[in-house]
Amino acid sequence: MRTTTEYVWFNTTRKREFINITQQVADVLAKSQIQEGLALVSAMHITAGVYVNDAESGLIQDIEDWLQKLAPEGPDYRHHRTGEANGDAHLKNLLIGHQVIVPVTDGKLDLGPWQQIYYAEFDGRRKKRIIIKIMGE
Ligand code: ZN
Repeated sequence: MRTTTEYVWFNTTRKREFINITQQVADVLAKSQIQEGLALVSAMHITAGVYVNDAESGLIQDIEDWLQKLAPEGPDYRHHRTGEANGDAHLKNLLIGHQVIVPVTDGKLDLGPWQQIYYAEFDGRRKKRIIIKIMGE
């Protein structure tokens, strides 16, 4: 089995952002020349996530509203007793999940017709990174 590992950095201008990273993952896969295997995409932070879903702006706004409803931004988290102010972002990470695995077939990301890979930032305006690891033959 061969592996390729790359780190991709983000520094978002807004606190919450949803960034389509499908092409970046496909570029790492192409460079790896792996034909059959898996692509692991993982946020290396506890206040960001990675998910697979539709690239549609209405849906992205729906996802953000849903996250805000379940884990609203606010001052009333126990976590803030540590002096931090991002309790909601930790919970949003748990709701979205921190990583995905995408199948690789014939040298391509084997995604369904509407599936795209997204980096979801919940506490941005600072440097954050993801790891992309391609494994296979
Ligand atoms: Zn925190």
